[in-house]
This record gives sequence, structure tokens and C-alpha cells, in this order.
Amino acid sequence: MRSLQQTLAHAQESGTALGHFNVADFTMFKAVCAAAAELNVPVLLGLSESEREFIGVPEIVALVSAFSERSTVPIYLSADHTHSLPKAIEAVRAGFDMVVFDLSALPFDENIARTREALRTLKAINPQFLVEGEIGDIGAGSFIHVDAPTVNASLTGSEEARRFVIATGVDILAPAVGNFHGMRTNMLTGQSRKRLDVQRIREIKRATGSPITLHGGSATDDEDLRAAIEAGINIIHINTELRVAWRKGLESTLSDQPGEKLLPTRFCPPSSTR
Ligand SMILES: [Zn+2]
Repeated sequence: MRSLQQTLAHAQESGTALGHFNVADFTMFKAVCAAAAELNVPVLLGLSESEREFIGVPEIVALVSAFSERSTVPIYLSADHTHSLPKAIEAVRAGFDMVVFDLSALPFDENIARTREALRTLKAINPQFLVEGEIGDIGAGSFIHVDAPTVNASLTGSEEARRFVIATGVDILAPAVGNFHGMRTNMLTGQSRKRLDVQRIREIKRATGSPITLHGGSATDDEDLRAAIEAGINIIHINTELRVAWRKGLESTLSDQPGEKLLPTRFCPPSSTR
């Protein structure tokens, strides 16, 4: 199987992008792996700090290892939105393939200094481990926003992107290019879609030459996604749309089967006997 580094290099050369899908439970994990196998494409599974806390770091690594033995496509693990070096070290030691090291809330120069330090530490543990750096403001959390987040005020410029990539040595860059985390309520019904600043992506690509990630890809206009990949995006994050699908699936299954009973009592021994 190709390493993530090789797969990403191939994406750079061929002008394509990898899907990065967040999983918060085993159902989502199976769904993403099944979809990747059906489409015959490699896939990145993303787990933020809180998603890792819920599933468990060794548990998700063991799951991916077990699935990879039978999988016809590579399954990679990404420690999504990691805000501290100890959490990144935990991920690299456990066997993750990459980290989204996110200090974008800090002042720019402090973000550079601490990302560079993290990169040195993490590569010393595993030189194949990839480190993505974050700049700009794209909001936080995979939520449904009633009010539009004000993220367009801090779009990433190509010069700051170039400075960040050179100064830190990151393998991958995540800029702010019109994208944001979560979805607006009117995006649930398809009434509106996110629009991207494709020209800005092209300029950032030209200035850095780096693989680029698009975060907050849920509910983005399809044509904008295609144009963004053509302009240089190599990884696309989707989380909120998966959560919406998870909830809709659960709700419709429960309402379709209102007579569904709880487990028979013989399967549920009293707590005193456990
Ligand atoms: Zn993100």
C-alpha cells in the first residue's frame, strides 16, 4: 500500500484531491470505508481531539489496522484540529499518518514558531508523519449556524501563505479561502451553498507549491469544488454533512419502525450482576 506521503504526491502531480471524512462512531467509520471501497479511491479518516477522546486513540488505530488487512484501498488516519503538541505526539506514536496542527488562533509569528517546533519533534518520532499547518480564520466546530459566521474578513493572502510554509516547513497548508466549518441552516435544504475564492487558491498554490487542504467542505457548490481542485486543492474535509446524514438516517429508521422493542431482558442482566 502507498504511504500517505506517496498518495499526496500523486494527488499533487495529477491535480486531484483526497477526501478527508470525520468519523465519530463505528457507523460513520464503516460508511466512509465502504464508500471509498465502492469508488476505489484512497481515503483519509479524520478525528478531531474530541472525536479521538470519544472513540479512543488506540481503538481507532486498531480498527483501521483490522479493516486495512481486507481493504482494497488505502485508509489513512488524520489527527484533525490538534491544538497542542502532547496531543500530536500521542497521535504520531499511536500510528496516525498525519496531524492537522491548528494554532491559527494565535498571533501569526507565534503560530509559525510553535508549528515549526512541533514539526521538528513529530518528524523525529516518525519522518513519514505529515504535518499540516493552519492560517486564517475559518470558524470552529461542525455545527449548524443560524447566523452566518464572519470568516471572510480574514482570508489568507498568498504572501503570508508563502512565508508560513517556508518558515515552518509544513507538508500541507490549510488556508482560509471562503470556506468555513459547519453549515448555515439554509444549506440544509440546499437553498444556499458555500462559494470559494478560486483565484485566491490558485495564487496561494503558485506562491507556495505546497499541497493545500480545504477545511469545512460541507455544502460547498459542486462547481466551486471542481474549480478549487483544478486550482490546487489536494485534500477536502467533510464533517457536518456526514453528521446530518447520520442523524437523518437514525431518525427515519426509528420513525419507520415505531414498534421496535428494546433488547429482551435476558440480554440485559441487572446491574448488580455485571
Ligand atoms: Zn477543519
